[in-house]
Amino acid sequence: MSASVPGLEANPAGYVCLSFDFDGPSLWMQRRQSNPTPMSRGEFGAIAVPRILRLLARRNISATFFIPGHTLETYPDLCRQVVDAGHEVALHGYAHEFNPGLTPERERWVMQRSFELIEQFAGSTPTGYRAPSGDLTIQTINALVEFGVRYDSSLMGHDVSPYWVRSGDRFPEDRPVEWGEPVDVVELPFSWTLDDYVHLEFVTFRKMLMPGLQRPQTMFANFADDVRWMVREVEHGICNVVFHPQVIGRGGRLLALEEWLDQISQLGVAFARMDSVAEAFRAGRAFGIEGQRD
Ligand SMILES: [Zn+2]
Repeated sequence: MSASVPGLEANPAGYVCLSFDFDGPSLWMQRRQSNPTPMSRGEFGAIAVPRILRLLARRNISATFFIPGHTLETYPDLCRQVVDAGHEVALHGYAHEFNPGLTPERERWVMQRSFELIEQFAGSTPTGYRAPSGDLTIQTINALVEFGVRYDSSLMGHDVSPYWVRSGDRFPEDRPVEWGEPVDVVELPFSWTLDDYVHLEFVTFRKMLMPGLQRPQTMFANFADDVRWMVREVEHGICNVVFHPQVIGRGGRLLALEEWLDQISQLGVAFARMDSVAEAFRAGRAFGIEGQRD
């Protein structure tokens, strides 16, 4: 089965990729917080997904949903709606596993199982991957290459351009960095600064607290400024924005999301699925061209 990836129309003002990590209960399983209250936070994600699908449909925007295999199996009808609405479904672990804690065998199992589940649901091979909690390991990169995954979105080495993932980087303490060789995986970089979870979600850990709970308008003002800079300074830039249905899917936050979409649409950016950007980059399209406007 090969993936059907929509083409990407050239747009010098740039591209914004909206991605939604539909973690469901698996995020709280990873944290060993299996009591009803934390689990219900994941459950709320399933209430929020239809709201997001309606919002995207009204604006004719195609997005990318990173969905763990566990969520696909827990909410099959809902995930079917995501596929039927024309959105991309991409890999996000089986049960939101924390990669640095996995053996190579377990990580391979996770990749295989989640890969097969997306094939079943979407009817085509998944082309993209985002590491749960953004934690990519060397072992993960090897698994992405082995499974033929076309792009990753877990690294932060750029902000407005795709680049090639490398394997074999070395960081000796008495010499400069020794960069490894590029592998056949495109990086579509993300950043915590463009992730709703860290701005908005209130989470307590045993030894720390993530306060979140900003006004969504404050977060979206930051997002908008990044897009404004990109449109002014860069040609064919990309801006990847990470949302979580369980975070963004509440009343006031959804209103703020709509206002932000209105605002950046006026800047002339195009909304694109991440697989479209990755395939255009693979085909030799130039992105993130800086220094031409001076
Ligand atoms: Zn996640």
